[in-house]
Amino acid sequence: MRNLHDHAWRTRAECRGLPLWLFYGFDDGGRPDHTASCEQIALRICQRCPVAAECLDDELRHVNQYGIRGGMTAEERRSERRRRKRRARQVREVAA
Ligand code: SF4
Repeated sequence: MRNLHDHAWRTRAECRGLPLWLFYGFDDGGRPDHTASCEQIALRICQRCPVAAECLDDELRHVNQYGIRGGMTAEERRSERRRRKRRARQVREVAA
């Protein structure tokens, strides 16, 4: 069983060493300013990342409103989080 706090997968991340603004765009005041072009570049990097599943699992344990993580936008992650909760509830209902 994988340790939930094991972040060794990060050493194989495709985004390792890349500037954070690619994934989390910020304006001069430190507010999120994620442009569509940055999103597309970041999403393409995620597509070839060997640890995208681990990244997404880790990200879904937090509520991060901004940026590209695990190959998804923040909105896509919110949908995925809801989908996983629905699925877990269905599994519990079947098992009860
Ligand atoms: S999926 Fe994307 S954000 Fe996550 S580690 Fe890979 S490249 Fe980085």
